Amino acid sequence: MKSTADLRIALVKLGGSVVTDKTSLRSFSRTHTARLVSELRRFLEGDDRRRAVIVHGGGSFGHIVARRYRIAEGFRDQRQLRGFSVVRRDMRMLNAMIVETMMSGKLPAISMPPESIFRIDMGRIVHTDAEPLRYAVSAGLIPVSFGDAVMDAGRTFSILSGDTIMEFLSRELKPEVTVFCTDVDGVFTSNPKHGSNVELIDELSSSESVSTDNDSRFDVTGGMSRKLEALFVSSSFSGRTVVVNGLRPGRLRDALLGKKVICTRIV
Ligand code: ADP
Repeated sequence: MKSTADLRIALVKLGGSVVTDKTSLRSFSRTHTARLVSELRRFLEGDDRRRAVIVHGGGSFGHIVARRYRIAEGFRDQRQLRGFSVVRRDMRMLNAMIVETMMSGKLPAISMPPESIFRIDMGRIVHTDAEPLRYAVSAGLIPVSFGDAVMDAGRTFSILSGDTIMEFLSRELKPEVTVFCTDVDGVFTSNPKHGSNVELIDELSSSESVSTDNDSRFDVTGGMSRKLEALFVSSSFSGRTVVVNGLRPGRLRDALLGKKVICTRIV
């Protein structure tokens, strides 16, 4: 078994907007997911030191119910318990479908819910134990974690986003490459879905000004503004950090391989 220091780790976020249809409750995007899995497999097959860790978002399996029951605000009344239970169940259903799709694509995926790695207090990660994840990666398994409804020391429960998990896993794993797949070509000067006068930012540094009007109908975890924070932290621990459109064939593969691709690179 290789130590993680000898390995070339790719940390990949499959955004909720890629693996689900965000506008329709519990709709899994199997076709996109299967294609992304085959792009990942081709990358992994190119070098036996390559390893991957996957994090996925909730999309329409997480945000719609979490928002209705205000799970991210913590425990307020008994009526939320049903919502918490539903989000936990639905996220496990989505995770199981993603793991299954990876296994069908001949990748040894294993589910790793965030509570097996992180302790949360007041919506923040206060303790990380990534040892089991490291053992799995060294052995060649592909851990698949996800944004989830989690127990929270101060608030009883809260929501931990996939982007926050990416931030903390990049700290732990120091990946060679970190890729965030979402449903637009990268980070734009402002939300590309809400205006025409927007430009894709090829190289994004923290001094750049980016407007991020998130669609709160579909997002309980801060959308692009939370993602930007995660991107900058990730980039300080990763060899390369890139945002690509996961709906466009080949972009994930090219980003993983370091090829020229339409994307935003974090510098
Ligand atoms: P995911 O669920 O795939 O992780 P999010 O929905 O959280 O992704 O974030 C992606 C969305 O952020 C895009 O669909 C886009 O509408 C929105 N967005 C807001 N501001 C920006 C921006 N400046 N650049 C790119 N996308 C933005």
